[in-house]
Amino acid sequence: MENERPPYQAATNENLFGTSPQVLAAMQEALSSVHGYPTPDAADLRHALARKLGVQANEIVVGSGSAELISLLVRRFCGHDKGSEVLTFTPSYPLYCHEAQALRIPCTEIPLTSGYRIDLEALQRELRPSTRLCFICNPNNPTGTYLTSAELEQVLDSLPAHVTVVVDEAYIEYVTAPDCADAVSLLARYSNLVVLRTFSKAYGLASVRIGYMIAQRHLIEQLLEVKQPYNVNQLAQVAALAALEDDHFLQTTLQATQDGKTKLEQALHKIGVQYWPSQGNFLLLDAGGYSADDVHTYLLANNILVRRADQHTLRLTIGPDEHQLYLLQMLQELLHPS
Ligand code: PMP
Repeated sequence: MENERPPYQAATNENLFGTSPQVLAAMQEALSSVHGYPTPDAADLRHALARKLGVQANEIVVGSGSAELISLLVRRFCGHDKGSEVLTFTPSYPLYCHEAQALRIPCTEIPLTSGYRIDLEALQRELRPSTRLCFICNPNNPTGTYLTSAELEQVLDSLPAHVTVVVDEAYIEYVTAPDCADAVSLLARYSNLVVLRTFSKAYGLASVRIGYMIAQRHLIEQLLEVKQPYNVNQLAQVAALAALEDDHFLQTTLQATQDGKTKLEQALHKIGVQYWPSQGNFLLLDAGGYSADDVHTYLLANNILVRRADQHTLRLTIGPDEHQLYLLQMLQELLHPS
């Protein structure tokens, strides 16, 4: 069947533990008012987020997924000035460069070090007077590695004020490392900082498309110049508001993800598969003696979809036990055929 998804969809880091029943009930109720336009600029949600984050509602913009905000950031901060450039790192989330390239804006991907750290010297080398945006993913997708507060401050201090630095915290809810940076706490100190977050991951709302950015007012105002007033549909706004209310679901998801990750790590260790410790709801695996393509093809033939990160590594999303046990069984059969 054309649109059939593999039983284990482990390629896009969705919340494989589902969505809050409270959110689904709120969406069901909101169906009766879909004849009307959505609340402009998601005002109610911005106020709820502002209370939660300790910022002002006018320091937040809500987008149709954080992907829309990435696109608007590139358009607003680079699209206006001919010759503007984007900087980011590799391996990281490919959409940053993809959005730049769609607008014919040059994008440089600076290789991370062998331990997947940011190379400050390389960053300085690649910096140009025309660099307008720098995207940093923290924790980083696909590696799961993270920047400490001190490391993020070092990066921010090393960049001139004409570079707007976007810290993408799509996976921040999953973080357990106490020293991982929380970029929102740095917003008052860095006037060139933008923080991106999403409801697509831990809140289990990837399908409804809703994410947000937080920044100082002058950056928000510039972004609003290119945002449509009704960019976020009402069902998504209602879902996100209800999701913020259901802390029990969030905590249950985080615990289940953590437990699933621990079990997967232990099992991978047993069958000799190397992985990188991850702060996200995913693990990056080494394909061992195989190419990532071969492992990907083999798993897909067995109805498991994972993401190829590069020629030697694969990223897979943490999921419920029954999914992971099946995945492990397939990996075991490939690596150690009896
Ligand atoms: N940033 C990162 C790091 C991601 O991994 C993703 C989705 N995979 C996004 C942003 C986009 O998320 P959204 O669904 O909010 O557009």
